[in-house]
Amino acid sequence: MLVGSPFARRILIAIAASTVAAPPFAVAQNAASRELPLKHAPQPTTAEITPADLMTRLYIFSDDSMEGRRVGTIGHQRGTAYIEREVRRLGLVPAGDSGTYFQNLPVFERTLAAGQTLSVGGTTFKPWVDYLPRDNGPNVRSLNQAPVVFGGSWGDTATMLSPSAAAGKFIVLIVPDGPDGKPQWQVNRPVLTRYYSDAAGIAIASLDAMDPQARQTLAEPTVDLQSPEARAPELPAFLYVTRAMLDALLGESTRGLTRGRASGKMVTGSLRFTDTRAPARNVVAILPGSDPVLKREYVAIGAHNDHIGFDHDPVDHDSLRAFNTVVRPGGADDAPRTPSADEAARIRTILDSLRRVHTPRRDSIYNGADDDGSGTVSVLEIAESLVNARVRPKRSILFIWHAGEEEGLWGSEYFTDHPTVPRDSIVTELNIDMIGRGRADDVKGGGPGYVQLSGSRRLSTELGDLVETVAKSEPTTFRIDYQYDANGHPQQYYCRSDHYEYARYGIPIAFFSTGGHRDYHQVTDEAQYIDYDQLARIATLVRDVAERAANLDHRLVVDKRKPDPHGQCVQ
Ligand SMILES: [Zn+2]
Repeated sequence: MLVGSPFARRILIAIAASTVAAPPFAVAQNAASRELPLKHAPQPTTAEITPADLMTRLYIFSDDSMEGRRVGTIGHQRGTAYIEREVRRLGLVPAGDSGTYFQNLPVFERTLAAGQTLSVGGTTFKPWVDYLPRDNGPNVRSLNQAPVVFGGSWGDTATMLSPSAAAGKFIVLIVPDGPDGKPQWQVNRPVLTRYYSDAAGIAIASLDAMDPQARQTLAEPTVDLQSPEARAPELPAFLYVTRAMLDALLGESTRGLTRGRASGKMVTGSLRFTDTRAPARNVVAILPGSDPVLKREYVAIGAHNDHIGFDHDPVDHDSLRAFNTVVRPGGADDAPRTPSADEAARIRTILDSLRRVHTPRRDSIYNGADDDGSGTVSVLEIAESLVNARVRPKRSILFIWHAGEEEGLWGSEYFTDHPTVPRDSIVTELNIDMIGRGRADDVKGGGPGYVQLSGSRRLSTELGDLVETVAKSEPTTFRIDYQYDANGHPQQYYCRSDHYEYARYGIPIAFFSTGGHRDYHQVTDEAQYIDYDQLARIATLVRDVAERAANLDHRLVVDKRKPDPHGQCVQ
């Protein structure tokens, strides 16, 4: 699922061991009993949807070797190659580009172009050493003897240079100290770029204060989905500079400098970033329907094949998990904060219990076992079961594994804008994102049969009713939780996963999830914490809903207002 808060990634956790109490032994067993082994030897999968099959598949798909499956990376290619091998083996019909199972997305990696330099006076400065260039879009201004002007301190418009005075200038800003007394190195680049949109360049003098991990993260290439219709505006060059480069730019100490004062120095050079095509692909496969007429319509079943990659600085896996269990039970959806003394004691108790059962392990890979390994392997299991069914569904089933969901629903946006089957032949889309958790210790009210359902009546009352009817006919007693489907719900699940891209075109959707948890968008989202029985139950429910919708003698009735396909999602 697409992250909904600004606290997405890369939170370093330090727990002061000396401040916390010793654990009671009972907790040790509880904390450890939920964990499955770290590795699992794959077994041949069967025609049925089973916990064992799902386990085999998920341990493969969320293995460390997949490197977090971030779109644009080799890990994403490996993950999608696994899905492709499976659908090929199952004999599904390819529905991607040029007779393949892959639909490639125009995703580009943006890196600093070769030979970019910046010089001030006679001195040339080195990128990544003296300054950290930031990508300000494909049409960034080059600098030709741009006059350097001191712009004041970031964030304080009373002391900052006015936008009109910055036009055509290379402005240099310093940063204020934060509450901890350290310089607040980070500025809001989009906001600052908009404010000084006519400047030649914007330099922030905080590179020395930037922590090493942030520095590494900001130096990583960015990936972006090309939107051909949008012509990029011309924008100022943007960079963070060291104290030494600041001195060269201003020619004197910033002490006593007044804003708007020209330093008499000039900057020449450019910070152009270029695009290289990066791997990003949907996997699309069809099981043709058995009815000669109805087979022209499709029931789509989707999940997303990507996740968010890996970090450069490993953290202690169990410390992070213990911390999140107490302080961030919603994972990345909860803001990190300092634990109270009582919370610190509980964290210590959990951590010590984990330490009794295994040795510390460093971890840096966002395996995304639940997000959305659970959905991905479920769609494979559903495909395998329907391929082997005695009677095939009347309508065709479209299986789709979307790329770049985590970057902003790219794969589903691209597929619905460039569908490989007629868009209006898709009668419904059943989206699965994160269905491998939902135990009572993950979700309030969780346990066997717990499932969150969103969007199922937002376009078609009939679809919403159908899901409930099917759920009641299953051997499992399902408890459907609709709370996240409420209008205006702050979690915005309706807008945060791939189903919305279908719904915006008026295609009825149902979104199945077991919801957020402590490992959401954390390196601890691993196959060992998945509830495979629950995963099998919900995958079976989705298969049965798909079958029922595919065998209806009429097309699911859309009785609600369709959204504007190019408007903003509203839950
Ligand atoms: Zn996610």
